[in-house]
Amino acid sequence: MRTQATMRITDLQYHIVAVPLREEEVWAFGRRSNLEAVILELMTDEGLVGLGEAGGYPTVEIVAAVIASLKPLVIGENPFNVERLLKRMYILGAWHHVKSSSPGIAGIEMACWDIIGQACGQPIANLLGGRVADEVEYFYYVGQRSPSEMASDADRGRRLGFRTFYVKVGSDDAKLDIARVAAVRDGGGSEARIRVDANEAWSTGGAVSVLREMEKFGLELAEQPISGSNLREMAYLRSQIRTPLLANESAWTRYAQLEVIRESAADVIAIDNQMDGGLLNMKRSAGLCEAAGLPVLKHSLGELGVAMCAGAQLLSTCPNVLYASQSYASLLADDVVEGSDVLRYQNGKLVVPTDPGIGVQLDREKLERYEELYLRLRKTIDNGIIPSQPKWPKL
Ligand SMILES: [Mg+2]
Repeated sequence: MRTQATMRITDLQYHIVAVPLREEEVWAFGRRSNLEAVILELMTDEGLVGLGEAGGYPTVEIVAAVIASLKPLVIGENPFNVERLLKRMYILGAWHHVKSSSPGIAGIEMACWDIIGQACGQPIANLLGGRVADEVEYFYYVGQRSPSEMASDADRGRRLGFRTFYVKVGSDDAKLDIARVAAVRDGGGSEARIRVDANEAWSTGGAVSVLREMEKFGLELAEQPISGSNLREMAYLRSQIRTPLLANESAWTRYAQLEVIRESAADVIAIDNQMDGGLLNMKRSAGLCEAAGLPVLKHSLGELGVAMCAGAQLLSTCPNVLYASQSYASLLADDVVEGSDVLRYQNGKLVVPTDPGIGVQLDREKLERYEELYLRLRKTIDNGIIPSQPKWPKL
């Protein structure tokens, strides 16, 4: 083992990338054609380099600015001291009241775990509790298109072995949303677990009405149908539908999750190292929900191979992961890690890497290619997320 007590971080470098999607991603309030993320490298005085990834939320430029602002607080620190580093970044960095700082902080924290794992010769799952599973299950994201196209795509996911199908709803046309769910049932088959996500688009009354219609086709989970800012309304909605309610936007950080639990506002909670502010905080979130008797799954802002594998490492250590987690594999055209067949899932499951650290290496040629794509796109109006009309709630 390396000299844990004396190792120091010597540099932090980051790359903004845009990786194309196979098809445009569309949700209640926006759409995008590329997945933008920040890939980080944390250098140490012992030659180890840790990889991290931060989702571009709310924009990749804001995340990069957060990371740049944290560089002076990180350099000179020992990467093993994750708790101390989190406090430095959140409190000394004065980011503790700002939710959008969490992906940047999480990217740096992820790179620390990659260094610790490499130094110890262990996959990070072994440093965060050890495995309760060797594989982690993910859903198949059926992109929002016409019902017939979505039925074909769900059929593709079923043939690839996925069991859970994710559908964005909350469009301006509730009848079309219902038709899309019916189409995914057709394509995915009678055993398909269909999860709908309205991204807070509906009013409570609208959500009750449209979810009851969708329930005729069988739903696995209803993800954040209404505003996450009103937990009593979520608790009421829970009482009015048969489908378990999944808290997402209402449950960013463990402090928000605690309120969801107190208000009995959800049946399942989405945890996420990006929004929880690191893998260690995500583990804390899973533990908090476990104590409340609630299952969890992992949310994703849209992830490439570094974040996917880091998330899988941690999910493999959480006994209360009872539902498929989020994956962008079905939408992504490529990745930035070596050997990156983006659909490298077996029956919807990802085998958790056993190599030291996160267990992935960057493909330098692809990293450069998608850095260049980001710089090209930045000059056009198609860069990043294109918002839809600001009507809220929509139903
Ligand atoms: Mg969601």
